[in-house]
Amino acid sequence: MTYFHVPGFPRIGEQRELKWALEKYWREEISETELQTIASDIKRGHWQAQIDVGCDLITVGDFCLYDHVLNASYLFNHLPRRVKTTERAIDQCFLAARGRAPTGQPVHACDMSKWFDTNYHYIVPEIHAEDSFSLQPDFLLKDIREAKELNQPIKVVLPGPVTYLRLADSKDGTDPLVHIDALTNTYGELISLLKKEGVEWVQLDEPVLATDLPEDWLQALERAYHQLNTPGINILLATYFGAAGENTSRIFSLPVQGIHLDLVEAPAQLTAAIDNIGPYKILSAGVIDGRNIWRTDLNTVYQALRPIHQRLGERLWISPSCSLLHVPYSAVNESGLESGCEYWLAFAAEKLHEGRLLKQALGDPSFIASADWLDQTQRVISRRTSERVHNSAVKARADVIAAGDWYRATPFEERLEVQQTALNLPLFPTTTIGSFPQTDAIRAVRKQWREGEITPEQYEQALKQEIEFCVREQEEIGLDVLVHGEAERTDMVEYFGALLKGIAVTANGWVQSYGSRCVKPPIIYGDIERQQALTVSWSTYAQSLTEKPMKGMLTGPVTILKWAFVRDDQPRSATTYQLAAVLNDEVRELEANGINIIQIDEPALREGLPLKKSARGEYIRWATSAFRYCYEGVSDSTQIHTHMCYADFDDILDAIEALDADVITLETARSASALLSTLKTQPYPNGIGPGVYDIHSPNIPEQSHVLNILNGALESTPAAHLWVNPDCGLKTRRWEEVTPALKAMVAAAEWIRTEDNQASAVKNRQGDVSLH
Ligand code: GLN
Ligand code: ZN
Repeated sequence: MTYFHVPGFPRIGEQRELKWALEKYWREEISETELQTIASDIKRGHWQAQIDVGCDLITVGDFCLYDHVLNASYLFNHLPRRVKTTERAIDQCFLAARGRAPTGQPVHACDMSKWFDTNYHYIVPEIHAEDSFSLQPDFLLKDIREAKELNQPIKVVLPGPVTYLRLADSKDGTDPLVHIDALTNTYGELISLLKKEGVEWVQLDEPVLATDLPEDWLQALERAYHQLNTPGINILLATYFGAAGENTSRIFSLPVQGIHLDLVEAPAQLTAAIDNIGPYKILSAGVIDGRNIWRTDLNTVYQALRPIHQRLGERLWISPSCSLLHVPYSAVNESGLESGCEYWLAFAAEKLHEGRLLKQALGDPSFIASADWLDQTQRVISRRTSERVHNSAVKARADVIAAGDWYRATPFEERLEVQQTALNLPLFPTTTIGSFPQTDAIRAVRKQWREGEITPEQYEQALKQEIEFCVREQEEIGLDVLVHGEAERTDMVEYFGALLKGIAVTANGWVQSYGSRCVKPPIIYGDIERQQALTVSWSTYAQSLTEKPMKGMLTGPVTILKWAFVRDDQPRSATTYQLAAVLNDEVRELEANGINIIQIDEPALREGLPLKKSARGEYIRWATSAFRYCYEGVSDSTQIHTHMCYADFDDILDAIEALDADVITLETARSASALLSTLKTQPYPNGIGPGVYDIHSPNIPEQSHVLNILNGALESTPAAHLWVNPDCGLKTRRWEEVTPALKAMVAAAEWIRTEDNQASAVKNRQGDVSLH
């Protein structure tokens, strides 16, 4: 019999029960016992769902209260020492994750980083020379014992030792790899313990195999898995998010009992896997997309797997490609989506159902005539052939965009001169990144509007009042380039998704981003059209209230793509070009309506980088070309800004340059010195606004802090190119924090502008741009 299993299940709860419970626990409104009871109910629900569809192993260990990498740090007694001010284990974890917990002393939280190329964030383990590892298996054993009550074979899942160390961050310069043998020993002890508990399989996730893993790490991986081989318990080595590539034969020669491969992201590796599988290993074929939400074309998968099934028999397992953590719970309650696209969706629950169908068909070929199978086929055909998905005019325009490179004809320095004449901005102009505080009042108005409790006119009126307030505040603060404040947006991607045809917005399609935070990615299901202006009325209204320039505010094509669920029937680049086309229409309409500065945010440009370096050049080529098309055809006097955050910019400086925006604002406040030293080695040729204070903190910036950053920037950048701005949008802050912080920022800009104080500024000034 072919086994069906899942590498991991979403864990936030179908109605985000875990989110609500965690937040109550942190506010001390419920006890640890109450929190653990809710968590247990969620876990049991997952196990039961797996049993109900006939999973042959139930997955344990994938659930966690905050993050699975953090759980591994706890399990191996490798939390930072500073969190051990409380006896309560979960609070030690919460202190590491968020710096505070109901018990224990507040501390510096650990860093958080994106889990490979997904939008999930893990808590980064900290490495020191003196680190040691030992077992704290209490949480895990409790879960295993609870799961055993269900009388099913159990598979425990954990991050593998190589991935754990590879994702860790050295705090004292120690190479994390020096700890591999010690950590592997502790994994070994754990595996023996799991064997005693009657666990049959341990899935060790090593997605680092989909990245460019250096040779010393590969050798460490080989050594570790030789050491972990333990008679009486089986190891499933899981790779996902890409191909094992040139490492395929090496990993298949390891003494593990099974290998899991992602055959959605990298279907071509199946052949190499079959060539290398040998006489006894299990192949777990990840054929159901764990990261996207479309119904699987089971007929195609079935045809591909049948000959392999005939050859491997029971040694072929089927599975989603990776943990289902990256998709929402269930599409059953989605209804009335744009173009009826709910019919085409498979969230986690539907993916379990697909696994069952596939397993049944492999066991009994006559099953492909069953009603269930035909229903699935019908859904796939319906999407493929739907007129609501395909629009030939949109495709034709995207093809034209794909063929061009769209650089502005006039070089930057000449554009700057024209823009200076038109905009008449002072040296060191001040601005913000776009959003202002999203107050409860704003959220209430948007909700009333969504639920039809107020008329569209009332809604518009309420938002206009908010915009007016925001403009007056900015004038009072003394900013040079104003924004309308983005009060109409729940989210910078969802807002555009809801207005564009070809993109659907779900009611409950939540996916965990980190801890209790979830996002609801829109679904790009078809060719994208702009049927109405997206932002023009808000921006022009805001402009009508002030003499100062108003900056129009758009989300860039790569960021919309990256933070949405995307089509799987065309390359990502094709979808991005379609987004660029609608954004170009919007940019031109803003320009025609008197908006002369337009910011196109691309915070996700860095995250879109492929895991393997060899694929990056191609990505950067299309991603930046699509971005440049967004402003294609604007006049030289229209100033294009962009903004980026959350990233280590070092490996995308070329891409940032290739965007050829007139001004880029960057998050720097938490790593200002890193960015400033990078700029020294590779100066940025156009306008740049290094974030001068950290918006993630409620603290009011010191003028000296702002000036330090500006002085640092002047070492690499002419004064005429520098902007002064916070490091990201202000929507999560309160006005009481924002107003004084921006006043301090403006005061610093004014100070450095004055003749006496800008010795360094003048020294660095280049060109003959007129400055005021
Ligand atoms: N314009 C957006 C804002 O200010 C940018 C957000 C972001 O960079 N993530 O909120
Ligand atoms: Zn930002």
